[in-house]
Amino acid sequence: MQRSAPSIQVGDFRVTSVRAGSYWWDGGTFFGVVPKTLWAKTQPPDELNLIEAGFNCFVVEDGKQRILIETGGGVRHDDRAKERMRTPDPVRIREAVAAHGFEPESIDLVINTHLHWDHAGGNTVDEGGRVVASMPNARYIAQRGELDHARERHPRDSVSYRDVNYEPLLESGQMQLIDGDAEILPGLRLTVTPGHNRSMMIVTLESGRETWCHFADLVQFAVNVTPTWVSGFDLYPLEAIDNKTRILTQAAAEGWWCSFGHEPVKNFGKVENKEGKWRTI
Ligand SMILES: [Zn+2]
Repeated sequence: MQRSAPSIQVGDFRVTSVRAGSYWWDGGTFFGVVPKTLWAKTQPPDELNLIEAGFNCFVVEDGKQRILIETGGGVRHDDRAKERMRTPDPVRIREAVAAHGFEPESIDLVINTHLHWDHAGGNTVDEGGRVVASMPNARYIAQRGELDHARERHPRDSVSYRDVNYEPLLESGQMQLIDGDAEILPGLRLTVTPGHNRSMMIVTLESGRETWCHFADLVQFAVNVTPTWVSGFDLYPLEAIDNKTRILTQAAAEGWWCSFGHEPVKNFGKVENKEGKWRTI
């Protein structure tokens, strides 16, 4: 399959896909109750049933501001985890953005759709014995409800959270917590969309009659646009199905550009629903 173009223009904004590498994880956990005979057609598993998942991050810019959405999985993994995830040399988000011409110092804002390690793992770096922001001049934004949940460490998903990805930024005052939906810049909206968890946000950008939506883990792979194909990780699968149906129906009707949390191949796609059959084109 061909890897698609890394950038799209959305009205006054340019959106660039900055994938911070990928990792391999059990396919069954990603696809939940969907039979393997179906998901294996598009996500071929290896001999251990692992499939490739991207650490999908994006830079949005309008000529004045640069916004980084997600920071990937970071590099703080022990040898066993690196071997298990087939990431011997994990990608540093600072290097991933720089490779696309964005100096980390030039990022004004970082948005974490949620605080799972695979989305906020590159938020901080270890420098001279201290933990500091990977994007030194940026303000970071996350949901207060998500932080509360992260700190609760519920046994179901406690492994998804690591203090080092957000506590140092809260201490330094670099991370700002928001309560519910927010418009960050005119046209750039964060919308709390429960399903994957209670407080995960999707990001929509509307400008010049074009719309782009980053679905984050509400739609992890392009093939998950079928609303009932929810992830085994989802804490609220019924809400995920309802929210996916509602938002993807609008995306299909209005021709939005769409991006997905862990799709390893397609950076941007459009969604269509023909006689009840959903697909990404
Ligand atoms: Zn994720």
